[in-house]
Amino acid sequence: MSAFPTADVLVKGGRIWRGLGLPEASALALWKGRVLAAGTESDLSGLAGADTRLVDLRGRLAVPGFCDAHEHLIPIGLGLVELDFKPPRATAIAQIVDAVAAEARRLGPGAWIIGRGYDHFHLDVKRHPLREELDRAAPDNPVYIRRTCGHMGVANSRALTAAGIPEGVNDPPGGAFERRDGRLTGLVQERAQEVVYRVMPKPDRTNLIEAIERAGRHCLSQGLTSVVDAGVGLRAKFEEWFAYREARQTGRLPVRAYLSFTGGPDGALADARAAGLVTGIGDETMRVGPVKFWADGSAGGRTAAMSEPYRCCGGEKGMLCFEDREMEAMVAEVHAAGWQIAIHAIGDAAIGQAIVAIEKALKARPKPDARPRIEHCGFVTDRQIGEMKRLGIIPSPQPVFIHEFGDLYVDVLGEARSDASYPMRRWHHRGLRPAAGSDAPVSSDNPLIGLHVMVTRKTDRGRVLGSSETLPLADALHTYTANGAYSAFAEAERGTLEVGMLADLAVIDRDLFSVDPAGLLEAKVDLTILGGEVRYDRLGEL
Ligand SMILES: [Zn+2]
Repeated sequence: MSAFPTADVLVKGGRIWRGLGLPEASALALWKGRVLAAGTESDLSGLAGADTRLVDLRGRLAVPGFCDAHEHLIPIGLGLVELDFKPPRATAIAQIVDAVAAEARRLGPGAWIIGRGYDHFHLDVKRHPLREELDRAAPDNPVYIRRTCGHMGVANSRALTAAGIPEGVNDPPGGAFERRDGRLTGLVQERAQEVVYRVMPKPDRTNLIEAIERAGRHCLSQGLTSVVDAGVGLRAKFEEWFAYREARQTGRLPVRAYLSFTGGPDGALADARAAGLVTGIGDETMRVGPVKFWADGSAGGRTAAMSEPYRCCGGEKGMLCFEDREMEAMVAEVHAAGWQIAIHAIGDAAIGQAIVAIEKALKARPKPDARPRIEHCGFVTDRQIGEMKRLGIIPSPQPVFIHEFGDLYVDVLGEARSDASYPMRRWHHRGLRPAAGSDAPVSSDNPLIGLHVMVTRKTDRGRVLGSSETLPLADALHTYTANGAYSAFAEAERGTLEVGMLADLAVIDRDLFSVDPAGLLEAKVDLTILGGEVRYDRLGEL
């Protein structure tokens, strides 16, 4: 009798990339949701029994399941049923107006119409939609459509009235209502959006669970087996936690989730703490993650806080959401309470604020291996990279931003700053552990696009931004697998296909190591295996 049990699944017949620096395999045995053994088919033949399920790679590539280290599962799921204006879906203002008008007819007067994803740089008019255009499309409905970055949106007159925003309104701290000739244009920026969100219909528990399930299934179709939800509470405060918990208990959470709770005055953190939650609570399927604070906005929307002005707009440098001392106090307090810290910071001024806040918090309450994260961390300076290394700060970048917004970055920030943005190679080579993500639904959550960017630094129009920041494919895969696990304190259970690790795999339709880089954009995920179970099967082969 063999000393080994019989494998539940035997993966064979292709190339199995098990993790950076690990020997590759051509066969993998899975047992009780974990990797039992790796080697060649003949090495593992003794592990196959009558009940062993065979997964024949037929020359394809298997990799550890991808981890999206920064996305928004609930907004992805809710967004799958909202009006979607993401380019190339909307490239003309008329398409937005027509879709809003059609939705008004469908829903009837009074109902909120919610859309997302427009990018004014990709619209024929090269500007945000106007309040009046949305009024004409839906005179009897409140309408709010968010820009692709989520940091701003356009409200029509009904929505402004519903939110109690008069023409003479003052801008709130950290936000703005755009005006032209003394009249509101409908554009609502940064924290001013909270005024609109307050009156928008909140998804209920059922809607939230449906969103989690819908989004999770979508993630599986992208080869993602784990995600970091970078903002639990964004849409429905602490109710989102109850939805996650119920989804988990009823088998409706399709992917592993590490949950980052929104901090700040309007976040879900206070309720999370009152409920006794803290980073680390949970299991390998769902775990409480960090507290997330916002230091600034987005580069494309010109609200990311920079130390040097944007190129376009009269010396503007973006905006910080909080004063330094406010940020420092919030970060120190939750760090001392035992939470991992995650700070959204895109511009170098915001990244600087985040680094100082983290350093002060660590100094006041030293904690080995605190793994603070800076989310996005796009326009980081060389000196800041050194400080991040010293403090053990994890960058959580979105390579896909270069694909989708790279040309826009050049427009608003110039070439030098855009070339140096999201410095995957410098981080990797200087010993930091960048954990790649997508920020979906802001950008596509297809990890193959992120891998393509890391290997080529190409925008979707083919421009190369900073060729010195390219990474070899294996290093790029590492950022999308092991580093994501590390950013969630989960490197002992997932992120590689070492023996004993969770049996989470993605099978790609071609061997990415032997195709031209352009092939990465055409590649598809054929199979996704989570905990040894096939959860996505594009071709229905099994
Ligand atoms: Zn995000």
